[in-house]
Amino acid sequence: MTIQTESKIYLNYINGSWVSSSDEQVYASVNPANKNDIVGYLPKSTINELNEAVSSAKKAFKLWRKLSSADRGEYLYKVAAILEKRVDEIAETITREMGKTLPEAKGETIRAINILRYYAGEGLRKIGDLIPSTDQEALMFTTRTPLGVVGIITPWNFPIAIPVWKMAPALVYGNTVVLKPAGETSVTAIKLIECFHEAGFPAGVVNVVTGSGSVIGQGIIDHPDINGITFTGSDTVGKRVGQGAFARGAKYQLEMGGKNPVIVAADADLDLAVDATINGGLRSTGQKCTATSRVIVVSEVYEEFKKKLIKKIKEIKVGNGLEKDTWMGPCASEDQLNTILSYIEKGIKEGATLLYGGQRLDEGALKHGFFVQPTVFENVKPHMTIAQEEIFGPVLALIKVNTLEEAIEVANDVKYGLSASIFTKNIGNMLSFIQDIEAGLVRVNAESAGVELQAPFGGMKQSSSHSREQGQAAIEFFTSIKTVLVRP
Ligand code: NAP
Repeated sequence: MTIQTESKIYLNYINGSWVSSSDEQVYASVNPANKNDIVGYLPKSTINELNEAVSSAKKAFKLWRKLSSADRGEYLYKVAAILEKRVDEIAETITREMGKTLPEAKGETIRAINILRYYAGEGLRKIGDLIPSTDQEALMFTTRTPLGVVGIITPWNFPIAIPVWKMAPALVYGNTVVLKPAGETSVTAIKLIECFHEAGFPAGVVNVVTGSGSVIGQGIIDHPDINGITFTGSDTVGKRVGQGAFARGAKYQLEMGGKNPVIVAADADLDLAVDATINGGLRSTGQKCTATSRVIVVSEVYEEFKKKLIKKIKEIKVGNGLEKDTWMGPCASEDQLNTILSYIEKGIKEGATLLYGGQRLDEGALKHGFFVQPTVFENVKPHMTIAQEEIFGPVLALIKVNTLEEAIEVANDVKYGLSASIFTKNIGNMLSFIQDIEAGLVRVNAESAGVELQAPFGGMKQSSSHSREQGQAAIEFFTSIKTVLVRP
């Protein structure tokens, strides 16, 4: 690989030191809005670096677990303060690495700061219960114990929020961590770890090893000293993580894909439903696990909803996320662009009608980037590929139905169950939806994306391993319960 000398080479962080790959190989992080812009180079690490990181985390665990959780929380407060000073710089790095617009990247970084502070505070919350014993002389209670070394594997779509919402609870509850970030957004991850370094964590408590999923990710799955693995990403890789962790008795948590529906009932506020569909489906170029991808509309209001939707979508400005007037940035990589285009082709081949968009944008200022038009299909049948598979791009499938019951049936007829929304003013409709929809995140008159950080987050069916992240729910994964009986 020819290295552009003006681009920085970043390093792994192992046992409190910055280190390169033992075979000196690097990979490039490329700006998807302009492939000639190299954001930085990262170590293409070998299994040796992973082994070093795990052994330093294992050693550090002995002391870290002995600190009070309040003291561990103090470290998180320090990281939050350091990150706060770097918000603008890190937001710009996120936009350059994966393309989301600058306001979205800044919002994500602020969310990461809030998550750090939230879990710093969680360090003071009770962690057990007193349970009545039938033995009058005994005291029975539960307490919690950390898992040990936790391996963290993260995707590129939320390059700072997802690592933080896994690292912060892992650390406050007494675990040490080894992070393997997504290849596309590793510079953001290294900048985050710089903040942990500056906060003065003891050596070995926090480690990051960059490199390929098949080497470092697989190494985390297989490593006998990693006691817990938390993964967010595609269901293909997630299944591999789950099977590998289960086979060697490690605890695992998987957050995977979605095929999230919005249902528009006959009595919906159509302007609200249109705005929520556009924000939920097309922000971040549709690359959110909770992004709206199916819009199931009751026939009475179908034509009116469609007209309003297309009118607004036509106003969307696609461009470089660093520019002020850009509403939608590029796809995160060339691979991602090609996947999206191939789904659009499949939609046309299977008989759906392309109502708007569908084309790559590569003229003028967009010529060196991976841009695609916001895209809407109609006449989509529930069995079609574009109505079943996660596209992870700005593609909406309009499905017309006759009744609300049919809408919920169609909404549930996929392998995923992450997020789902309904737009209606009728309390009966709301209650039927809340009761019957198969989704971990249920939203009424609100877009499918955007769950608050203090609330449990996760999916049903093949979207998740059924545990929950965020809020107090995170303690369930990052600790084990000990039931204690004491006879003094
Ligand atoms: P991905 O391809 O599954 O990658 C996720 C992570 O797994 C990356 O760090 C990747 O490393 C690593 N990996 C790849 N192959 C591996 C292997 N054989 N063993 C272990 N690790 C491996 O997913 P993505 O494309 O980054 O992210 C998009 C997906 O994430 C979508 O499906 C989206 O729905 C899902 N997602 C889910 C949630 C949620 O909370 N439910 C949130 C955000 C995203 P490399 O980058 O080096 O390949």
